[in-house]
Amino acid sequence: MSGATVNDPIAELIACRDCGQDCLLQVADLCADCIARIGTAADDADYRAWRTENERRVVTGELTGAI
Ligand SMILES: [Zn+2]
Repeated sequence: MSGATVNDPIAELIACRDCGQDCLLQVADLCADCIARIGTAADDADYRAWRTENERRVVTGELTGAI
């Protein structure tokens, strides 16, 4: 084992769909900051829409990689 350039796809930075910030942790395309923002907003319409979309994607297998 040598070299610090091992490609680790699990640790890749991925841009958040909403704010575009590169982040290691995402849940259904959104970074933790965006989820916190929509989850604690006075109007939680964005959060509910995100949850509804996730539910659809789980059921269809889109989010779990089943398709
Ligand atoms: Zn974000």
